[in-house]
Amino acid sequence: MFVGHYSVAFAAKSDRNKIPLWVLFIAVQFLDYIWATLVLLGIEKLHVVKGFTAGSMLDSYFHPYSHSLIAAVIWSVVAGLIYKAVSGWHGRHYSKSAPLIIGIAVFSHWLLDLIAHPRDLAIYENTWKVGFGLWNYRDAEFALEIALLAGGVILYLTRNAMPAIRKGAVIAFGIGLVIVQIGDTYVPRTPLTDKTTVTGVWVFYTLFVLIAFAVEKIGATTKNHSP
Ligand SMILES: [Zn+2]
Repeated sequence: MFVGHYSVAFAAKSDRNKIPLWVLFIAVQFLDYIWATLVLLGIEKLHVVKGFTAGSMLDSYFHPYSHSLIAAVIWSVVAGLIYKAVSGWHGRHYSKSAPLIIGIAVFSHWLLDLIAHPRDLAIYENTWKVGFGLWNYRDAEFALEIALLAGGVILYLTRNAMPAIRKGAVIAFGIGLVIVQIGDTYVPRTPLTDKTTVTGVWVFYTLFVLIAFAVEKIGATTKNHSP
């Protein structure tokens, strides 16, 4: 699962919880940020194999600290607590439900990965592996990613009041993510090394976080200093 994860970020944002979209973009990929970092450090293991599944080249044969069910639950709680603490330090107003929403957003990553991944998601440590393997059916997996993303963007547009220019930017961003997914699913390429692959994960995910940040600034009302 790739851009489908962002459906949860878009869907979770509301005028009531006021969680910045860019924070939700980190939350829904929090487990992959940990995974990419641990692979770079040589702690978790990845093989990049052409044709491993129809829709993905990633053979994640050892990722217990980022992608086991128990780890996912722990990271979800940790992320919710971090959000609560950081909001508190900044004296930022946040709704009571916001840390819980962050936790659910982080955990949603595991549930969506469960649908797409082959049986490489451990329940705990590196044992009892599960995964429904939708990545074995390239078109179906692609369709699910796009359907989820579209649903999330539509919810975002309906639940949040915003100027027309920002609506346009959100839709353009959604289309951009669809194009990225088309490239990832359908454009043939030679497998990169494990470290280069996860460096790409870091770069792309962070680029999307920055765009999510910028999009929510578009058409924001500036303070009026007229007397
Ligand atoms: Zn993942």
